[in-house]
Amino acid sequence: MSRYPKISDTPDRFDLKSNKLCKNCENFIAENRKHYCSKECMEQFNRNNSWFFIRKDVQE
Ligand SMILES: [Zn+2]
Repeated sequence: MSRYPKISDTPDRFDLKSNKLCKNCENFIAENRKHYCSKECMEQFNRNNSWFFIRKDVQE
Protein backbone atom coordinates (compact mmCIF):
# COMPACT_ATOMS: atom_id res chain seq x y z
CA MET A 1 0.00 0.00 0.00
CA SER A 2 1.29 3.37 -0.97
CA ARG A 3 1.00 6.25 1.45
CA TYR A 4 0.06 8.76 -1.21
CA PRO A 5 -2.14 8.35 -4.29
CA LYS A 6 -0.13 7.51 -7.35
CA ILE A 7 0.20 10.30 -9.86
CA SER A 8 -0.53 7.79 -12.60
CA ASP A 9 -3.99 7.41 -11.06
CA THR A 10 -5.03 10.88 -12.15
CA PRO A 11 -7.22 10.53 -15.22
CA ASP A 12 -6.04 11.49 -18.65
CA ARG A 13 -7.58 14.63 -20.08
CA PHE A 14 -8.91 15.03 -23.58
CA ASP A 15 -10.24 17.92 -25.61
CA LEU A 16 -13.48 17.79 -27.62
CA LYS A 17 -11.70 16.10 -30.51
CA SER A 18 -10.25 13.37 -28.30
CA ASN A 19 -6.76 14.77 -28.43
CA LYS A 20 -4.88 13.94 -25.28
CA LEU A 21 -4.00 16.97 -23.19
CA CYS A 22 -1.04 17.54 -20.94
CA LYS A 23 -1.85 17.04 -17.25
CA ASN A 24 0.01 20.18 -16.34
CA CYS A 25 -1.11 22.63 -19.03
CA GLU A 26 -3.50 22.81 -21.96
CA ASN A 27 -1.13 21.66 -24.68
CA PHE A 28 -1.68 18.57 -26.77
CA ILE A 29 0.56 15.61 -26.09
CA ALA A 30 2.66 14.20 -28.87
CA GLU A 31 2.05 10.58 -29.83
CA ASN A 32 5.29 9.41 -28.25
CA ARG A 33 4.46 10.92 -24.85
CA LYS A 34 2.10 9.58 -22.21
CA HIS A 35 0.81 12.28 -19.89
CA TYR A 36 2.72 15.50 -20.42
CA CYS A 37 3.67 17.71 -23.33
CA SER A 38 7.21 18.12 -22.06
CA LYS A 39 9.69 17.03 -19.43
CA GLU A 40 9.24 20.39 -17.71
CA CYS A 41 5.51 19.82 -17.31
CA MET A 42 6.09 16.34 -15.96
CA GLU A 43 8.49 17.63 -13.33
CA GLN A 44 6.27 20.55 -12.42
CA PHE A 45 3.20 18.37 -12.11
CA ASN A 46 4.98 15.79 -9.99
CA ARG A 47 6.35 18.47 -7.72
CA ASN A 48 2.99 20.21 -7.28
CA ASN A 49 1.17 16.98 -6.58
CA SER A 50 3.72 15.67 -4.15
CA TRP A 51 3.55 18.85 -2.14
CA PHE A 52 -0.22 18.91 -2.26
CA PHE A 53 -0.46 15.45 -0.73
CA ILE A 54 2.32 16.02 1.76
CA ARG A 55 0.77 19.27 3.01
CA LYS A 56 -2.64 17.65 3.27
CA ASP A 57 -1.18 14.79 5.22
CA VAL A 58 0.57 17.09 7.66
CA GLN A 59 -2.57 19.09 8.38
CA GLU A 60 -4.74 16.12 9.24
ZN1 LIG B 1 2.33 20.70 -20.59
